[in-house]
Amino acid sequence: MFMNTQPCRSYLVCIVVISCLLFGTADANTFTKNNPVAEATPFALQFFPAADNLGPFEGEPESAAVYQGKRLLGYVFFTDHVMPIPAYSGKPIHTLVGFDLSGKITGVEIVKHQEPILLAGVSEQDLSDFKNQYLGLNAGNRVQLGGSGREGYVTLDGISGATITAMVLNATIMKPLRKIAISRGLIGEGATQHTADLEAEEPIWVYAWRDKTFQIIVLLIGLSLLLFILIFQDWLAHHPSLLIYLRYGYLVYTVIFIGWYSLAQLSIVNVLTFTSSVIHGFSWETFMIDPMMFILWTFVAMTILLWGRGVYCGWLCPFGAIQEIVYKLGEKLGIRSYEFPVVVHERLWAIKYLIMLGLFGLSLQSLAQAEVFSEIEPFKTAVTLHFQREWGYVVYAAGLILISIWNRKFYCRYLCPLGAALTFPSKFKIFDWLRRRKECGRPCQTCRTECEVGAIRLTGEIISQECHYCLDCQVTYWNDKKCPPLVDKRKRQEKRKTLKETVASTNSK
Ligand code: SF4
Ligand code: SF4
Repeated sequence: MFMNTQPCRSYLVCIVVISCLLFGTADANTFTKNNPVAEATPFALQFFPAADNLGPFEGEPESAAVYQGKRLLGYVFFTDHVMPIPAYSGKPIHTLVGFDLSGKITGVEIVKHQEPILLAGVSEQDLSDFKNQYLGLNAGNRVQLGGSGREGYVTLDGISGATITAMVLNATIMKPLRKIAISRGLIGEGATQHTADLEAEEPIWVYAWRDKTFQIIVLLIGLSLLLFILIFQDWLAHHPSLLIYLRYGYLVYTVIFIGWYSLAQLSIVNVLTFTSSVIHGFSWETFMIDPMMFILWTFVAMTILLWGRGVYCGWLCPFGAIQEIVYKLGEKLGIRSYEFPVVVHERLWAIKYLIMLGLFGLSLQSLAQAEVFSEIEPFKTAVTLHFQREWGYVVYAAGLILISIWNRKFYCRYLCPLGAALTFPSKFKIFDWLRRRKECGRPCQTCRTECEVGAIRLTGEIISQECHYCLDCQVTYWNDKKCPPLVDKRKRQEKRKTLKETVASTNSK
């Protein structure tokens, strides 16, 4: 007995359309610009302890003068009003910066933002330490984050686990500051050319790609190897020992290199951000700011259209790989797995689609809120932040990994909104290279009981939207000691051979 997923998907499409109608016209997360003076005043008074009043935001570029009585002390400005630099979320980080009459920074405050990593992954203390490094810097300073000191640069610490966001924050603070400092004549004649040179600096994404050359090369090698595996999957399925080494070696590479080292775990947040940016203004620069994510998404888009979502879920998702490795270790330790009855298993699939649609609908109303609820994904905790987080998140992520010892890839099968989102484009996949026999399911159930995610129907067909492309069923397909039709064929051949040999030896006597 199996669930026909066709009508189910039609309902899902209806829900998406209804969500769009309900939420689509809502203005997603525009920052309050109605009363910037009220918004800025409490921070401005901290930036300038002697100050007692703030003028209006005016001029081009826009800033507000800060006074003690009638004495001008400096200026404050909202960075995104001067230069809206899109951050990782696709939205600028709404930051207030104060500087005195010599162009020195007196205060930095992040007033609002939608950066996923800052929302949940970086502590207030880390963020405050990062901002405080800018105090006393001058508009003409060149800033480098991390690494050894380059000549002519001031070196500041980045934010651990949020490198790209830290780079964006740096540009968010320094670039508008230079623009205003020049326009207010705060920078001397000689320094103006130097500052103009700084403005000609390369875009952040170019810096990010150069800075991550090593990771990019290792990732491209890994993706090429995966393409090789996919193209030669039949040959590899004939060599199961080699395939097992390749597969589990690859999963270890995915967890350690792609996940824990490069922090390139794809997430439903990327999908929501992409959708939001298509609605509210797409910019390539936003997506190219993280080269690892950009390359991975490009590769995933391509392989989904060729082979389906399984290539990502079965090989490139760090959290999926953690679960699979943990399950295999449990198996080696003799821990018995538990499978839900087929009818329950197929109904539980619906949960991940409902979660995905809920997040999608919420993101049309508020991307920031949707990102908070996206914590249903344990990726940030288990991969991006290496379990260095508040205990509640750690218990949740560790619990899901533990469950996968007994129920293989439990999270992937029933809860993952990203996996659910990836099934939609999988509908258009071009290749169908996973082989089946007419005996599959009628009556043979060998592959079905072995499938890591329960993606084979009782009737033998592979449900391509659920398949994780592990190739286990392909190994069995070619195994003449396991696949019953092949076992029969081999036995018949052996019998014929034995008969021929017996006849030959009788004749020779
Ligand atoms: S279903 Fe989700 S967690 Fe599992 S492999 Fe796919 S994206 Fe990763
Ligand atoms: S066993 Fe076959 S159907 Fe199941 S996930 Fe692996 S490749 Fe897909």
